Amino acid sequence: MNDHLVINPATEEVVATVPGTTPADVYAAVKRAESAQEQWAATAPGDRARLLRCVAERIDHHLDELARIEVLEAGHPIGNARWEAGNARDLFAYAAGGIERLNGLQIPVSGGIDVTFHEPLGVIAVIAPWNFPMPIAAWGVAPALAAGNAVLLKPAEVTPLSAIRLAEIALEAGLPEGLFQVLPGAGRIVGNALVEHPRVAKVVFTGSTSVGKRIMAQCADQVKRVTLELGGKNPNIIFADADLEQAAAATPGSFLDNTGQDCCARSRILVQRSVFDRYMELLEPAVKAFRVGAPDDPDTQMGPLISEAQRQTVRSFVNDDAPVAFRGSAPDGKGFWYPATVLTPSSPDAAAAVEEIFGPVAVVLPFEDEADAVRLANNTEYGLSGSIWTRDVGRALRVSRGVSAGNLSVNSHSSVRYWAPFGGYKQSGLGRELGPDALAAFTETKNVFISTDD
Ligand code: NAD
Repeated sequence: MNDHLVINPATEEVVATVPGTTPADVYAAVKRAESAQEQWAATAPGDRARLLRCVAERIDHHLDELARIEVLEAGHPIGNARWEAGNARDLFAYAAGGIERLNGLQIPVSGGIDVTFHEPLGVIAVIAPWNFPMPIAAWGVAPALAAGNAVLLKPAEVTPLSAIRLAEIALEAGLPEGLFQVLPGAGRIVGNALVEHPRVAKVVFTGSTSVGKRIMAQCADQVKRVTLELGGKNPNIIFADADLEQAAAATPGSFLDNTGQDCCARSRILVQRSVFDRYMELLEPAVKAFRVGAPDDPDTQMGPLISEAQRQTVRSFVNDDAPVAFRGSAPDGKGFWYPATVLTPSSPDAAAAVEEIFGPVAVVLPFEDEADAVRLANNTEYGLSGSIWTRDVGRALRVSRGVSAGNLSVNSHSSVRYWAPFGGYKQSGLGRELGPDALAAFTETKNVFISTDD
């Protein structure tokens, strides 16, 4: 009844059946986590760092196995999946280094000394989505553990397998029993029980903006700490002075990677009107050349969508009257395939231009000048990422400062480096993950004044 089928999105075959966690299991897991956390917080920082480095090494040892799990349960191309497993490894290694650098301050005062401590919060719930199951889990789990907390990870219903394997690997590497547990199951049961549990000190949620808003409201009731990484509808702004060939060649990967199921997908392409037609001429062959096929083929660049439900959602944005400029191809037969699709809506307010589609669909819209580009870029409730293509350094900086988004790139589409901060403006999220301050988000700062008076 509570079991979840894991389906291979490329073949529609059942890969595994995973029993769902019950609310009673969640309560038992929180108890185990609490006692493990007490021990963990009391463990010497150097020993905790060494253990997390062992976890990183062990993930590296199982990198190919983890990548193949992601090919099976998420339909990710094997090249992408290897990167994802490597990203989880790197997160553990990076967070381990943070343990030895979780320094407090010594603040000048008279009559004594004043120092600060970064203390762990306790038990952290990480609720993850299906689009990047391993990296997004590791973004929360690794720094939370490093800061001295225990972690309960709730993976998405459709992609629990890599999370389960990650926790086994961590245990094999020597992480104490109960410190990092995976609780698969339904969001409204397991996720909800974690959010409401009074002994869960913080929720790190990555997923849709609608569920994120609900979780934030629930957390308010207990003044529970919360980090939210939500949706995106990210602009790719191409000025007339850009290297147009390079900008067009880089565009397919920017919205087709992970079949567009990427919160950072640049699915709103804004092109200065004077070069619009030339850009479209360059874009069409580039999109058609993006290699779609079997995820286990190392040459594949784009696999299927995650599920039939996701395919229906994507289709709902591309009805019979949709302003299709051109499309790529997709395999026939079994699997949740959907071709790359480029739309040229007449209005910048069209649903496809402002709502997150989470599929291989982009819109291209013209703009007149710099001010118009910034206005259009900010014309959504989201603010996660974006790209700016120009040869003018001053313009690159002005537009970077003008766009309300947390992660921008100039003459590139890169958004995420684990050693740089990541997070959203507006309804794309709350708080930051990754980067040098990642551990701080899992601590309370305590200030202590010690009098030196006799
Ligand atoms: P989702 O919101 O449906 O689910 C995300 C997770 O929340 C899942 O584990 C789900 O089981 C759980 N959940 C669902 N209802 C819940 C509830 N009531 N209480 C507690 N937990 C609940 O999102 P999804 O469809 O899995 O993921 C796609 C979305 O994630 C997209 O909108 C995408 O933009 C967003 N996303 C954002 C980022 C980011 O970093 N900003 C990264 C990846 C994905």
